[in-house]
Amino acid sequence: MGLQAFLARRVITPEGIRPAAILVEGERIQAVVPPDQVSNRYTIHDFGEAAILPGLVDSHVHINDPGRAEWEGFETATRAAAAGGYTLLVDMPLNSHPATTSVAALQAKRAAAQGRCRVDWAAWGGVVHDNQNDIEALAAAGVPGFKCFLIHPGIDDFTMVNEQQLRLALPHVARTGLPLLVHAELPGPIDRATEALATADWSRYSTYLQSRPDEAELTAIRLMLSLCREFGFRLHIVHLSTSEALPELSAARAEGLPVSVETCAHYLHLAADTIPNGATLYKCAPPVRSRENCEKLWQGLRDRTIDSVVTDHSPCPPTMKRLTEGNFRTAWGGIASLSVALPLMWTEASNRGFTLLDLAEWMSAGPARLAGCETRKGRIAPGYDADFVVFDPDREFIVTEDKLHYRHPVSPYLGETLRGVVKATYLRGSPVFAEGEFPGKPAGREYTAKPTH
Ligand SMILES: [Zn+2]
Repeated sequence: MGLQAFLARRVITPEGIRPAAILVEGERIQAVVPPDQVSNRYTIHDFGEAAILPGLVDSHVHINDPGRAEWEGFETATRAAAAGGYTLLVDMPLNSHPATTSVAALQAKRAAAQGRCRVDWAAWGGVVHDNQNDIEALAAAGVPGFKCFLIHPGIDDFTMVNEQQLRLALPHVARTGLPLLVHAELPGPIDRATEALATADWSRYSTYLQSRPDEAELTAIRLMLSLCREFGFRLHIVHLSTSEALPELSAARAEGLPVSVETCAHYLHLAADTIPNGATLYKCAPPVRSRENCEKLWQGLRDRTIDSVVTDHSPCPPTMKRLTEGNFRTAWGGIASLSVALPLMWTEASNRGFTLLDLAEWMSAGPARLAGCETRKGRIAPGYDADFVVFDPDREFIVTEDKLHYRHPVSPYLGETLRGVVKATYLRGSPVFAEGEFPGKPAGREYTAKPTH
């Protein structure tokens, strides 16, 4: 690869957006210099008016491999990621089989990923009801942190944890110094609401929304904040959907608790008011809530209570969405969006006065911090991996199946016009997506902070 220079009028660096040349030697960024200071030893890639952002990091993806690769898989997920501008995915420990709750399961995942990834990846470890003694071993084996569910996760081979089981796990988590990512919904409010809706019309989105009230998230977050105060572990709330929790999360941060928060592109783009009845493509948990709630989440990003925006890319075979029945009770929950999350976010963010600098913070630097790779990924700066997205923020496109690239091209976004086109994605100095093509062999590697071999 040798010496390369990547030029554009809008390079998104930690110091701001400016015309620049990114100088790359091998796989790493050497320097970011004014565009007229590139010596003739460099191979020049000039992207003109386009923007170059740091490669996006998605710390919340369900790749479902090994074991359920018919739902997604390393090849298809990382291909969709490359097309969407992502250069690192962190895989959730459930929906693969085995679930990543032991070192043996982590090794099975490493074997499954071998030679099949177009972008870099890492894997969260799982905390389930009975694996307290695997937690520190998983950390030693190189996971960047852990994920747990406070409610049944929709699949039987990954168990939820109750408060008592959490109390057994948290001393181990705290000792690792790694974050615990929590699906924060408590079953109580959901069970009560669902019981009251036994005879309701489950083809209506409003029925599904009522069955997962804000209170379920709010009470779960309160429980986790009090445990965080007690055990001193790093707490991360995944896919925050209710804006009602923002004041308490903000107060917890002000108090100095080590809490971080993510939300997802779908909570920032969709609103319950416009979801058609029977349209189970929009089902996810926690649910997409009201338009007013959505605007409050944007306010949470503005005031930095929310650190990052992820996809929660969670595909399944189309039959599991039960599209012909349109029943929100029985359909699988999950929205896949790796290939379109950046334009979705840019469409919404640019309308609200945010810049590409904000997007880089939410979709690169923030998730990189969570995944413990913030010294190598998520910024365009010397010493970092040469991971970039070349993005045309001024062009629009219509979402069609051929632009999705994951295994099953189902999406609630089909037919929408979005702003911003991913022109190319570079992984450690090499193109992994360029104008609709995927050049080269899969060269993605596992990112681990610790040596594992
Ligand atoms: Zn998820």
